[in-house]
Amino acid sequence: MAYSYEAPVSQTLFDRASLVTPGGVNSPVRAFRAVGGTPRFMVSGTGPYLTDADGREYVDLVCSWGPMILGHSHPAVIEAVQAAVARGTSFGTPGEGEVVLAEEIVARIEPVEQVRLVSSGTEATMSAIRLARGFTGRAKVVKFAGCYHGHVDALLAAAGSGVATFGLPDTPGVTGAQAGDTIVLPYNDLEAVHEAFHAHPGEIACVITEASPGNMGVVPPRPGFNEGLKSACEKNGALYISDEVMTGFRTSKAGWYGVDGVAPDLMTFGKVMGGGFPAAAFGGRADIMAHLAPSGPVYQAGTLSGNPVATAAGLAQLRLLDDAAYERVNAVSAEIQALVTDALGKEGVAHRLQTASNMFSVFFTGAEVRNYEDAKRQQSFRFTAFFHAMLSRGVYLPPSAFESWFVSTAHDERAIERIAAALPAAARAAAEATEASA
Ligand code: PLP
Repeated sequence: MAYSYEAPVSQTLFDRASLVTPGGVNSPVRAFRAVGGTPRFMVSGTGPYLTDADGREYVDLVCSWGPMILGHSHPAVIEAVQAAVARGTSFGTPGEGEVVLAEEIVARIEPVEQVRLVSSGTEATMSAIRLARGFTGRAKVVKFAGCYHGHVDALLAAAGSGVATFGLPDTPGVTGAQAGDTIVLPYNDLEAVHEAFHAHPGEIACVITEASPGNMGVVPPRPGFNEGLKSACEKNGALYISDEVMTGFRTSKAGWYGVDGVAPDLMTFGKVMGGGFPAAAFGGRADIMAHLAPSGPVYQAGTLSGNPVATAAGLAQLRLLDDAAYERVNAVSAEIQALVTDALGKEGVAHRLQTASNMFSVFFTGAEVRNYEDAKRQQSFRFTAFFHAMLSRGVYLPPSAFESWFVSTAHDERAIERIAAALPAAARAAAEATEASA
């Protein structure tokens, strides 16, 4: 389908990018393949707004896929970054900033007794799995279909996010050996977990799960699911790894752990804790973390781990994330959720808005979405029409029906009014969409 509005500068940049970068982007979902049209090349961000290379301003409901919980260019974060940059950008030695950031994480999240800083969520989950295998001496890993844990080879089986969009359940380049020890189960299905432990006695090193999944759209754990995972792991000598790269420091001061209180053995973090810079972490029980080099034999390292600029940004952001900030993000999110359901309801569009604290997403289906199979049953073509109608009215949504929407403390009345003004036409477009028009 051709879209009626133009973005000539973005299109020129995209054409240039496509010559020198595969698909024109550095992370697949940015290419708009799921929704079509020209990906917007952004040049600046302030508060809840992004401005593209054509000079158009958008209310941003992606927030860099989660990190920008205070909005763009928050003065305190910018100031901390400028001060850090002025002192030097990388030393390859320990520094105080890493200690303070680690202390902040440990203080906020009780099950995290020790933490190791890395540069991306992918690195965090990859390292946590290696550590779990090293600690238990076992090989197998249980993950859930639709949960995305970064592009770790062993975890790219039935992953969500961009992998969901592209329908690549197993990407070429991941060998049978690399994925062979991964057991993929349906999400929210404890029976399947018990069966896997029964079928592989003494072989499962860990169960890794998104604390509350956001990478197949928002599909929260059913009551008792995370508790059930924890007790199944305990009973069978496996580690319970909660991936909080997306939910960490976003869904509450202590992330999803702050919501459900289920204490994992290991946890992974990223996004919000980096304040818009590449900083991530994994941590947990001190007796397990002691197995990491140089304390123990499990090797893990990184040239830019604990980078002074990234840690300064993350720390500045975390320090501003007090109870009042979370109340604000939750209130903004609730207001936008109500507007979306209201607009879609008025047009009679079957939909399901699912939430996990201030994270939410809209599935174009009438039924509850409990797992990846349910999520795939939605009418994604309605999302495509909805997305473009919002985009052309200055609202930037995630360019895929399988992603969470993110808001920030900076989403003010003006931003919310713009969303409210765009919604009726977008809901109509969703109502009128047909599979053939997508
Ligand atoms: N884990 C989860 C739950 C994520 O949502 C993501 C990224 O979206 C990752 C891990 C990977 O993080 P990164 O993109 O920083 O490698």
